Amino acid sequence: MYNAKAFSAASATSPLASTQIARRDPTDTDVQIEIVFCGICHSDLHQVRNEWSGVMPTVYPCVPGHEIVGRVTKVGSGVKKFKVGDIAAVGCMVDSDGTCPNCKEGLEQFCPNLTLTYNFPDKHTGGVTYGGYSDSIVVDQRFVLKVPSNLDLAGAAPLLCAGITTFSPLHHWGVTKGKKVGIVGLGGLGHMGVKFAHALGAHVVLFTTSPGKKDDALRLGADEVVISKNADEMAKHAGSFDFILDAVSADHDINALLGLLRRDGNLTLVGAPEKPFPVSAFNLIFARRSLSGSLIGGIAETQEMLDFCGKHNITADVEVIPIQKVNEAYERLLKADVKYRFSIDMASLKGA
Ligand SMILES: [Zn+2]
Ligand SMILES: [Zn+2]
Repeated sequence: MYNAKAFSAASATSPLASTQIARRDPTDTDVQIEIVFCGICHSDLHQVRNEWSGVMPTVYPCVPGHEIVGRVTKVGSGVKKFKVGDIAAVGCMVDSDGTCPNCKEGLEQFCPNLTLTYNFPDKHTGGVTYGGYSDSIVVDQRFVLKVPSNLDLAGAAPLLCAGITTFSPLHHWGVTKGKKVGIVGLGGLGHMGVKFAHALGAHVVLFTTSPGKKDDALRLGADEVVISKNADEMAKHAGSFDFILDAVSADHDINALLGLLRRDGNLTLVGAPEKPFPVSAFNLIFARRSLSGSLIGGIAETQEMLDFCGKHNITADVEVIPIQKVNEAYERLLKADVKYRFSIDMASLKGA
């Protein structure tokens, strides 16, 4: 074991503060990474404040962060994929059993024995896993990804959660050139959805409740912007979409969106409103429409996404902050006051 610097929360009501944590020494199959940037995901805030206590109660101290990019500093003797100095990334998962049907299909995110990057039982230390708000991390090579060399690292970090969360459903539902695709909500997830759908060649329509987001949506790659509260604008698009990606976590009218799908169209949820949706069965039945959810993506698909980003030069739009501003960033996140993801410059941790 060795000591790493980190920022952790001591309780649900404590601000994140500088601390030291114990990391394992790399085993034969491990990669040790010096973290350069870590994105701030809304899940970090939920977990730190124990807002998911029913499903995933938080164990304190909690070190969040699952949008990690950095430099390889050490590899185990059995590691062939990485060498010291490589730029590497780690997302939401750090381990799985590797033997269940999900793992065998490359869908580790659905493994019943999955280990998440933070606040999950850690078989190596006996405690819980600690995430990327830290100067280093040690992860099994199976869960370490390669970052294309042309990508800006601050903007690449959010690809590991916001990126794969939006790329995977677009991929799964066959979004290609010629398809009409709706992206609902222009936040951390939605702005990635717009970029990916555009790069895949689709006709992209961004749905938002904020007219002020129109110019930005067009800049990011949307072909059209629809103000979802405007019934006339919505009616123009009735029955015309092949696929809609819904990235909104606030309560909203799901039936109005389902009515925009064409026959056999699909709407996939990646945002998770607390209140259950009242779904109209007629809306689904009369055009064989479907409603789905999607959870991040498997490791192979995450690598595919990163390679796609390398090819199309796609990164998240980020505001880089030092770790000392993380508590302030959380408050701003609650007000959706960020375009479109915070990325923590981990060099700032050296002085902490
Ligand atoms: Zn996340
Ligand atoms: Zn498994």
